[in-house]
Amino acid sequence: MARTAVSGRLTWQVAAVTEIRQETPTIRTLALDVPDWPGHLAGQHIDIRLTAPDGYRAQRSYSISSAWTEGAKVELTVQRLDDGEVSPYLTDTVEVGDEIELRGPVGGWFVWRERQTSPVLLVGGGSGVAPLMAMIRQRAIAGTKQPFRLIYSVRTPEDVCFADELRRRVRDDAGLDVRYVYTRKVPDGWPEPPRRIDVAALNTHGWPPDFGVDCFVCGPTSFVETAADILVALGHDPRRIKTERFGGK
Ligand SMILES: Cc1cc2nc3c(=O)[nH]c(=O)nc-3n(C[C@H](O)[C@H](O)[C@H](O)COP(=O)(O)OP(=O)(O)OC[C@H]3O[C@@H](n4cnc5c(N)ncnc54)[C@H](O)[C@@H]3O)c2cc1C
Repeated sequence: MARTAVSGRLTWQVAAVTEIRQETPTIRTLALDVPDWPGHLAGQHIDIRLTAPDGYRAQRSYSISSAWTEGAKVELTVQRLDDGEVSPYLTDTVEVGDEIELRGPVGGWFVWRERQTSPVLLVGGGSGVAPLMAMIRQRAIAGTKQPFRLIYSVRTPEDVCFADELRRRVRDDAGLDVRYVYTRKVPDGWPEPPRRIDVAALNTHGWPPDFGVDCFVCGPTSFVETAADILVALGHDPRRIKTERFGGK
């Protein structure tokens, strides 16, 4: 992979939206055709800049949810925040053929590299699953069999993003499994009531620290801080816990 993919290509450029997928009632994936994309690492993000006719600009970051292989599209998976400035535009207004100004890939810390061989514990809250999905997809492309587990905290079964693909991958990608923690509504017959991520959830669904686990935690800020604190309290090495905060409370 080109060195630029790691250090970040911080030049603004224009990309075309080539495909849009409605993942859940509030989340859409946009596939972008970015000229001369240098490739990216799973976990990196891009910056998007919108400019209004009067010159007013708004800029936000979005994780890349697609894995990288030669010729692949860059995909973003965006959740609409009803009172938000940028996300409603990306989830409701943008259409195939529109152009978006962006720069990237950005970030070299919150990344999973194919040469990492340790078991990986992914902990995602809401749209925080986006960069974790890129890691799951990249692992499949790399053909590695190291244990990967996703603990996915989500409001209701209808809000699960990538639901069909996750189901298929758990069946087909040896060594991958997914545990759900529903915060507002559980599926019929689910063995526990709705709950937020807590010590018991991470203790039950996670792996013991002596398993030599690399942890990636991503989602709204309070979710990330809670989950990372619990992982440390359970004995995980803080140097092996990487976090990405999406903002909000
Ligand atoms: C590195 C990075 C990667 C990101 N990747 C993604 C991604 O893959 N998908 C995605 O949907 N978002 C992602 N985000 C969040 C994204 O950048 C925006 O913050 C988000 O879309 C809200 O922007 P907005 O303009 O719609 O809302 P704003 O107008 O900025 O905010 C509206 C209200 O929502 C609150 N808010 C802002 N962000 C959040 C949040 N994440 N959760 C809850 N409340 C919030 C604000 O405090 C405010 O009250 C990422 C953020 C970072 C820093």
